[in-house]
Amino acid sequence: MTPEEFRRHGRQVVDWIADYLSTIEKHPVRAQVVPGQVRAMLPVHPPEHGEPYETVLADLDRVILPGITHWQHPDFFAYFPANASGPAILGDLLSAGLGVQGMVWATSPACTELETVVVDWLAELLGLPERFRTDSAGGGVIQDSASSAALVAVLAALHRASGGKVAADGIAGRYAIYVSSQTHSALEKAGRIAGIGARGVRVVDVDPETLEMDPGHLRTLLEADLAEGVVPALVCATIGTTSTTAVDPVRRIGEVCREHGVWLHVDAAYAGVAAICPELRWINDGVAEYADSYATNPHKWLLTNFDCGLLWVADRRPVIEALSILPEFLRNAASESGEVIDYRDWQIPLGRRFRALKLWSVIRWYGAEGLRAHLRTGIELARHFAGLVAADPDFEVREHHPFGLVCFRPARASDEETLALMERVNASGALYLSHTKVNGQVLLRMAIGAPATTADHVTAAWHTIRAAYGEP
Ligand code: PLP
Repeated sequence: MTPEEFRRHGRQVVDWIADYLSTIEKHPVRAQVVPGQVRAMLPVHPPEHGEPYETVLADLDRVILPGITHWQHPDFFAYFPANASGPAILGDLLSAGLGVQGMVWATSPACTELETVVVDWLAELLGLPERFRTDSAGGGVIQDSASSAALVAVLAALHRASGGKVAADGIAGRYAIYVSSQTHSALEKAGRIAGIGARGVRVVDVDPETLEMDPGHLRTLLEADLAEGVVPALVCATIGTTSTTAVDPVRRIGEVCREHGVWLHVDAAYAGVAAICPELRWINDGVAEYADSYATNPHKWLLTNFDCGLLWVADRRPVIEALSILPEFLRNAASESGEVIDYRDWQIPLGRRFRALKLWSVIRWYGAEGLRAHLRTGIELARHFAGLVAADPDFEVREHHPFGLVCFRPARASDEETLALMERVNASGALYLSHTKVNGQVLLRMAIGAPATTADHVTAAWHTIRAAYGEP
């Protein structure tokens, strides 16, 4: 494709995306296809001869779109949002256009240095402590996901807890990490990948009402392990659990970690970005004093297309020592000078995309006030929805909803009936909900946060759910 051909088709693609986003509401939110339907419409064999780009775009409409679940639809309320936005899409396009592979500073200095600036900007916006900034002992890095961030944290924590032995000898002794029943499965996966196995993952009790981790039980488990010669490597506290957005008591958990010198990782994948709003800074209480690492995903609720997960550490040495291997082909004067950051040493893969461009575009386009306005809208709409549900005697709503997620259920329905209600609503294409289970009972999850969602969408969604349940 010549630059002129690219210009022509690029305009078509940008027009296509703009048309898609401006008419997204005409699509059913959840894809209405059956398994295999998309594949059956595609040729089994690759084309021998190149095709005009118009045919690709035509197939996008004919084959791909019907198989798309529309995450940017204003009536998408399942899981957590995965916000896209104009500036993020453009930033990603620029990243693709530059085609940079920023594994080390020398392979594209601007890729590294812009990343350093945006992770420090975001640390400032979130009110994270100075020790997480690049000019201190710590610093931030953009990962693909909170799962990768958790794995990096676990590997660094094991490195520190073993005095560097794990990197050299592998897992020789017994190590443990501590999570709760509400912690994301990414932590157990990280433990497995790191080699401590499911046997090394301790599940700390939660308060049955709030679902927050119990620091007293954490202490009991930690001390029992120490007595048996098991080395506690990492505790994960969550700010905004996946199921119900519970906020673990980071300060009290941190005190236990500090007493025993255990690494505290804070997983704030979804909710952490809310701390950009001063009235929500309380969620980070204890992070400044106690956290060794902190992760949040702008690719969830901060208008930045997947993938963009940020990880900050208070001390970068254990990360780099755990992950850095220097083959000859990567040697270069800049790295050896010690004056530059090579983010390849802060992550699992070697190669890295220029993700900072999209986050930079987003922060510059919206400014802090625009980001706050977006987050506050989601929170307001969640309150609006909770109010509608609470006013209906046939439904009950979980009181805790500080962010954009509201959990609710028909008050007298069985789990099967609740799930059947969700399936009817989702199959209608009018909106898309997901569910969870708390204390053995199914709850529906209404996660609000798409930039296009308004109060009218939320009210209409409630009316659809109410009607699908049956009028009172
Ligand atoms: N941690 C929490 C609290 C989450 O809610 C999620 C996803 O929803 C994750 C981790 C995993 O995020 P990712 O998909 O970025 O790995």
